[in-house]
Amino acid sequence: MKHELPVPAHVVDLISELQEAGYESYIVGGAIRDLLLGRRPKDFDISTSATPEEVRSVFGRRSARIIGKRFRLVHVTWCGELFEVSTFRQAPEHGGANAKKDLPENLILSDNSFGTAEEDAWRRDFTVNALFFDPVKSELIDFTGQGIEDIQNRVVRAIGNPGLRFEEDPVRMLRALKLIGQYDFTMESATENALFSHLELIRVASPSRLALELEKILASSYGDKHFQAFHDYGLLPYFLPELNNAWDTPHGDYALNLLNERNCRVREGVYRNSISLAMATLALPFVEKGLGRNPGELWEPGPDSTAAIRGVLDTLFKPQTMMNRMTLSAERVLILQPLFGDEQARERLIEAKSYPHSRELLLIRTAVAEGDSAEMERLWPPVSSRRRSGGKRERGESGGNGPRRRRRGGRSRRERGEKGKGE
Ligand code: ATP
Ligand code: MG
Repeated sequence: MKHELPVPAHVVDLISELQEAGYESYIVGGAIRDLLLGRRPKDFDISTSATPEEVRSVFGRRSARIIGKRFRLVHVTWCGELFEVSTFRQAPEHGGANAKKDLPENLILSDNSFGTAEEDAWRRDFTVNALFFDPVKSELIDFTGQGIEDIQNRVVRAIGNPGLRFEEDPVRMLRALKLIGQYDFTMESATENALFSHLELIRVASPSRLALELEKILASSYGDKHFQAFHDYGLLPYFLPELNNAWDTPHGDYALNLLNERNCRVREGVYRNSISLAMATLALPFVEKGLGRNPGELWEPGPDSTAAIRGVLDTLFKPQTMMNRMTLSAERVLILQPLFGDEQARERLIEAKSYPHSRELLLIRTAVAEGDSAEMERLWPPVSSRRRSGGKRERGESGGNGPRRRRRGGRSRRERGEKGKGE
């Protein structure tokens, strides 16, 4: 059906480019869901009839790179932005091979057969995630016939047999609960019953995909809401048992309040959504507790507290494995916290590589404790004067609202093909 959606011009151009080369192409998934909900999508996923090689030849090798092992897709750089372009795929068949590997029989291990746009819609997880939009013709396609209505009613409904869909890919349970937490959706009853009876399957989900989901949750500005939904539905003990154990305790409440404050600041555009800052924010009360402090009572700097910080970062995010780089960065942010109370450490602190994120955590703490961080903002400059005048900054520690730098060289976990989609 005809529908107007506010798609940025460069995204329309990208789709046109593929269509002019003769390939059926749409914006799919979360972006359409978000636009219909009146929200700004965080990115635009593209689906097309072109194979990965054909996509690459449309955009050229310099702009398009084929990635992925589990499923192949193309990263296209277009107008300075990175887009994921995937080829229509069909639902995979369940093989008998899993029995040999002692895995649940319906678990999908490989998912790479190309298909039509309609087949591609049906193999997606939820009706609200299966809408296709052609921004050139302004045409919205609801192949399942239920997606638009479910968005209007804010309902999460699995496509097909919910139990089977969760058996095929247990990460879908987590994805359903993210929709509940983030958008205040409710779950359709068959989907909800299946989720309750399949929760334990999360244990057989791919560890790298779960870790990637955790990264996405921490990178988003809704982590506290996601965790709340995981807790309400009983998934949190499997996903982050330490956080679950602290639920409804003074330290656990404080941790969620801090994360909520950080998220509000990200949504208001005050902060860049750094994963390591989110890790440090959530971990701070656990460090205080480990060192025998009350919530909001910092510790003395020194080797004991450094060991406690390491210990907390090692256990809080288990069984998920966070990237070392992020854990180290969170550790540095936490180590600096007590120095904000020490006038003599001021110069050293301001010059530290992790100062910008550490300052952000200071402001978050102050806002939660006192309701306002304006005075601290005046006391502590966003960056040191040396850095302002062009001194060297640590990579990925730009802090505040600074422009996001483009990574050069080195391939991320995402690009190595360990993408977080069950696609
Ligand atoms: P977000 O706003 O977090 O990006 P999203 O729904 O777009 O939400 P993605 O991980 O970007 O999430 O996935 C894009 C689309 O791919 C989804 O909307 C859904 O249609 C499909 N998809 C992702 N993961 C799965 C899965 N595990 N099983 C089936 N379809 C999936
Ligand atoms: Mg998406």
